[in-house]
Amino acid sequence: MPVTPMTVGRAPDGGGPAVFRAGCPHCRTSFELAAGELRLTVGASARTTFYSFTCPECGEAVRKPAGERIVELLTGGGVRTLRLQR
Ligand SMILES: [Zn+2]
Repeated sequence: MPVTPMTVGRAPDGGGPAVFRAGCPHCRTSFELAAGELRLTVGASARTTFYSFTCPECGEAVRKPAGERIVELLTGGGVRTLRLQR
C-alpha cells in the first residue's frame, strides 16, 4: 500500500496557519489537516514516536510513525506534542 508522505505547506491565501497533508490507511483518502487536528507523541524510541489524527472522511483514529523530519515539521507547525517519560 503506498504511503502518503507527510508534507507541510501554507494555506492558499498565504498568511494562514500551516496545514499538513496526510492520508488515511482505512479509506485511502488524503486531505489537509490543521495543526490543531493533529497530535504528536514523542517517545524514547522510533517505535513510540508517532502522530495521530482522526480521519475526517471515515472517522477512524489513525496513528503513524513519525521520523525525525516529520517531528520537526509538526512541532514547527504548532502541533501539540506529548513527550513521553523515558
Ligand atoms: Zn479514513
